[in-house]
Amino acid sequence: MTEKCGVVGVSLDGREAARPLYYALYALQHRGQESAGIVTHDGFQQHSHVEMGLVGEAFEEGDLDVLKGGAGIGHVRYPTAGSVDSSCAQPFSVSFKSGSLGLSHNGNLVNADEIREELAALGHAFTSDGDTEVIAHDLARNLLEEDLVRAVKRTMQRIHGSYALTICHDDTVIGVRDPVGNRPLCIGELEDGYMLASESAAIDTLDGELVRDVRPGELVVLQADGDGFDSYQLLEREQTAHCFFEHVYFARPDSIVDETLVYEARRSLGRKLWEESGVETDVVMPVPDSGRAFASGYADAASETTADGESRAENDDGVEFAEGLMKNRYVGRTFIMPTQDERERAVRLKLNPIKSTIEGKTVTVIDDSIVRGTTSTQLVQLLKDCGAEEVHVRIGAPEIVAPCYMGIDMATREELIASDKTTDEIRETIDADSLAYLSTEAIAEVLGTERIDLCLGCVTGEYPFDIDGEATDRDVTRPDLGGKTLHADD
Ligand code: AMP
Repeated sequence: MTEKCGVVGVSLDGREAARPLYYALYALQHRGQESAGIVTHDGFQQHSHVEMGLVGEAFEEGDLDVLKGGAGIGHVRYPTAGSVDSSCAQPFSVSFKSGSLGLSHNGNLVNADEIREELAALGHAFTSDGDTEVIAHDLARNLLEEDLVRAVKRTMQRIHGSYALTICHDDTVIGVRDPVGNRPLCIGELEDGYMLASESAAIDTLDGELVRDVRPGELVVLQADGDGFDSYQLLEREQTAHCFFEHVYFARPDSIVDETLVYEARRSLGRKLWEESGVETDVVMPVPDSGRAFASGYADAASETTADGESRAENDDGVEFAEGLMKNRYVGRTFIMPTQDERERAVRLKLNPIKSTIEGKTVTVIDDSIVRGTTSTQLVQLLKDCGAEEVHVRIGAPEIVAPCYMGIDMATREELIASDKTTDEIRETIDADSLAYLSTEAIAEVLGTERIDLCLGCVTGEYPFDIDGEATDRDVTRPDLGGKTLHADD
């Protein structure tokens, strides 16, 4: 069971946390639409409300009033294909001898089963098959023997995989990011306190200021008086493995993730796409909304240089940027439709062409990624039916050839169109006149990092963790059980 989600936590001085958490979850709705929940603590007891559905559906008037306390965390959960299971909705809460815990998790552990078996043998009873509950039980157990910081450290040494966590231990709110920083988590300053969120857009929504990203392997403890936070670098690795797909698809364009504004990153990737594989057509158009920033960067670069890399003549404006596809916003993500037939129908429901921008023209259509190939196949057909003379497809990410074990729902290997086809075979399948993907080098260059500092598992098939039956892209050092010296850092 993978968890692909948005997490948030706030600690406020003299104000209830529930409403800010609710607004922050709205800002993170794109990270999960299956369930939403909030856990708060008022200094005496924990309060929880977790429901299936979108944030607006999960909370009714009055639900927020009973979530008392200035400390709390929230969660939105991503839909997985197939069963919709309320036992995996979060935050997950557990009460134990020395207090209460609420836990929100974005990511996926690769050794959850092993830990679950060990804890079950010690008498822990599990109510779900999710890995979040495994973290909660392991931490609760450690908290019986250690203080919060040491208990978290022990749990971090035990769990392997990706995790961005917000945790409410009684009325203390903490944030934890896995040692390779696979999933995002950042710290924000509010007028009367501090917050943690998967993306900075949630901080903006609360009129806060982004302080910085939580560092890989760091524990951040928000002070109860809203005055600041303490930082403990609990585990350290030489390399990070930030998920490149957050920048390409998952995160909001207006979020700053790992010090990069996602919108600008996508525009730069679009520019690279032009430099690497630009094609002169009458018009370039995005697949809304995921391809928009890529297409605008691509068209910008195309107005400066020709596809051969020469400067444009003064009277040559390059490729025209136009909106040729209108999106029906009320149709859910095509990706999560359980059957292929439904997915194909949903693309038609979702996208409608604007005939005047397409008829009789050569067209370049730009999207962020091709997963199963459903969208691009339907789209090329749609554009040709609409009278396009040629349809060229450009993609702002490399070929996705392997599943994601780190928390993004990326379909099985068999379902991925690029897992067993060459780019030309894919071009043929989707019936495009040409098809090109962006290189992994361009991704690394634009994100301003070494290739090795990114998790590119879904495009290389090599992962930053040891996963049964899969290759690893590096010699991953297991957590140093001796540990680093703890230090506080304002
Ligand atoms: P497909 O139609 O299966 O090739 O999927 C590609 C489309 O789904 C693109 O328009 C992407 O923006 C979008 N997409 C890519 N990855 C995901 C994901 N993990 N979940 C939902 N949608 C996605």
